[in-house]
Amino acid sequence: MDNCVFCKIVRGDIPSEKIYEDTEVFAFHDIHPAAPVHFMLIPKLHIGSLAEVEDKHRSLLGEMMVLIPRLAREQGCTDGFRTVINTGRVGGQEVYHLHIHIIGGGDRLPVMIPHPR
Ligand code: AMP
Repeated sequence: MDNCVFCKIVRGDIPSEKIYEDTEVFAFHDIHPAAPVHFMLIPKLHIGSLAEVEDKHRSLLGEMMVLIPRLAREQGCTDGFRTVINTGRVGGQEVYHLHIHIIGGGDRLPVMIPHPR
């Protein structure tokens, strides 16, 4: 996609702090980190959001899930981490190229989903 910022990162048209790349996926540090460790794992294939995922993406998504704990450990998340996929308007998605945030490396993160006790 010509105008997609994450496609541009994959192509090297705009710079990123890359931490991992293979034929299918790309991982790089978030430009505005929310915690000591905050990186993004994305498919190289342009998929607009999780809402656009189809059956044919099954193995790609599986590869991403398997990679996450390894990359998180390598980045210093030794005591857990959080994964976030913002999806669509309601989910607060800003960049419309599917991405998984991996966040951690510091103190316990704030509660995201408060439950009444
Ligand atoms: P969201 O779409 O809300 O899940 O979040 C998009 C994320 O992409 C934000 O956390 C941004 O800080 C991050 N971001 C946007 N542009 C860049 C960029 N050029 N390099 C790294 N991270 C970026």
